[in-house]
Amino acid sequence: MRQLNFSIADLDALPARLSAPDVRSLAADATAILVQIFVADGDPARLAALARIVQGRLADAVIIGTTTIGEVLDGRTVVGTTTIAISFFAAATLTAIALDCPPGGERAVGRRLGDTAAAVPDAAGMLLFATPLSIDAAELLHGIAEAAGELPVFGGGAGDYAASGHSLISFGATILPHGAVAVVLAGRQLSIEARTYLGWQALSRPMTVTDVDGMVVRTIDDAPAFDVYRRYLGLTGDENFFLNALEFPFLTERAGLVLARVPVAIEEGGALRFVADIAPGETVRLGYGNPSLIVADAHGLRDVMAEFSPEAVFLYTCGCRRFLMQDDTDLETRLFQDVAPTSGFYTYGEFFGRGLDLHLLNSAMVAVGLREGAPSVRRPLAADDPAATAAGIRDPYANQHARVVSRLVHFIGAVTDELNASNAELRLQSTTDRLTRIYNRRRLEQMLTEAVSTAAAIGNDLAVVLIDIDHFKQVNDTHGHAAGDAVIVHLVEVIRAALPPAAIFGRWGGEEFLLILPQTGADAAARIAEDLRGRIAASDFPTVHRKTASFGVTSYRPGDGMANLLARADQALYQAKHAGRDRVAVS
Ligand code: GH3
Ligand code: MG
Ligand code: MG
Repeated sequence: MRQLNFSIADLDALPARLSAPDVRSLAADATAILVQIFVADGDPARLAALARIVQGRLADAVIIGTTTIGEVLDGRTVVGTTTIAISFFAAATLTAIALDCPPGGERAVGRRLGDTAAAVPDAAGMLLFATPLSIDAAELLHGIAEAAGELPVFGGGAGDYAASGHSLISFGATILPHGAVAVVLAGRQLSIEARTYLGWQALSRPMTVTDVDGMVVRTIDDAPAFDVYRRYLGLTGDENFFLNALEFPFLTERAGLVLARVPVAIEEGGALRFVADIAPGETVRLGYGNPSLIVADAHGLRDVMAEFSPEAVFLYTCGCRRFLMQDDTDLETRLFQDVAPTSGFYTYGEFFGRGLDLHLLNSAMVAVGLREGAPSVRRPLAADDPAATAAGIRDPYANQHARVVSRLVHFIGAVTDELNASNAELRLQSTTDRLTRIYNRRRLEQMLTEAVSTAAAIGNDLAVVLIDIDHFKQVNDTHGHAAGDAVIVHLVEVIRAALPPAAIFGRWGGEEFLLILPQTGADAAARIAEDLRGRIAASDFPTVHRKTASFGVTSYRPGDGMANLLARADQALYQAKHAGRDRVAVS
């Protein structure tokens, strides 16, 4: 296959470009021709006119088009252009289908696209354009995955230069404001290497999505979803929300893959509208792109592609990457041009994957390498020093934006990590006993309250055991406080080593301990207590060697609150003490 990419200044220039000798001779040798038109201009009449001109010159070509939020021409990010990417295949075949999508019809349209692909012999991949502003692209992909099985799918959602109004795709001269167009690329000689990477980093603490209605997230942590953007980014809601929030998607993890979700609009009551699905209960963190990570990922993938040795590379890359990288976008995109002629567009959502792993991505880069026949001899890759000028001098100011952003993202990430660590430490301190590192009374009270309400709601068993060391005061009086501490620590170790898995064990105060035994009746609890008593009595304690403890056991009865339950356990403990200590009493 051969790839030819060019931009045209205006429609009048197109016929001459298509009649040039290079196009004519490549077309004469091709079994199939794919033309991708990437337009900044959202005028449907102009897009249709463009397609008609191409049709006039390349009659058998499959011609698909999309509006964008930036174009990629020979590895460079270009803006406001009409860019045309023509693939001339030596043996492959192309099967194209475009469908209008009525509201709610996404699943069915997806299945029809998938069915089409499934009927093509030797299908190697499906290139897909769709209009995510007007259709639910996640549903479309579900439909495709259901019918197309494990066929790799790649492509992007039509953009509209961040106006967030309406975007267009085209098939031939047909313009679709709400629909999808798919091209199934097939052939025994055709190999496709499609990969994705994100390069976005979670910066905020984790939050939980609490209320979702379709593509609208109403609440996060039970507060209006927009509050997250108000709090962390200082957005007030009256500025152009999409432009301001674009680079700050929510990040969520599904099956080990980090997915970004970009909000596109604020709705009634501070809800946020997305172009991709978010599920209630999902954990999200606010993220930002890290240019260092992006450039490192791009290098990694460039090397994978070099190994694969494609004859063309298509990039479907999120519009927010332009906002993030600014004038430094080429640090990422131009790397692929080292390997093969590279073209593509900046999208509203990227399509990538196969079968159950077919995803609607946001913020991501999807790179697709195509080759017919065996890999060619590897071209040596250019040495990478983007800061080097033609004269061989390093420019210390080059790519300063990407560097500053990388440092700031790193800084925020480090601060968040520190905060998370100290919060975790504080949580630990507020719930554990300093001497023994088991639960403290405060945490025991919380857990006992929960256990009592579960027992009350579901009616399952619950037992509690109060444990008190016998004649402990003597240890302090005879050997000092430190020896007393060591006895307490030793006793905790003996008990912990013998606890049933579901048991909750903590220090109730002084030399008293509480054991909460969910789903355990009084008899079973008494047996557990007796086992612990025996182990303590048989254990060799530091300094004092022998020490015993007394146990008060009781179990939950309907109508019990935490206070009753504990009062009964305390009575039982008193009985055990009164009856001579080193024993278990049940109330
Ligand atoms: P009984 O068998 O009736 O339970 O007698 P006892 O001596 O164990 O009970 P008492 O309540 O008279 O004494 C408990 C002692 O435990 C008093 C207190 O100084 C000591 N104590 C409480 N907490 C700690 C601690 O963290 N470390 C040490 N070393 N001693 C403690
Ligand atoms: Mg006591
Ligand atoms: Mg005691």
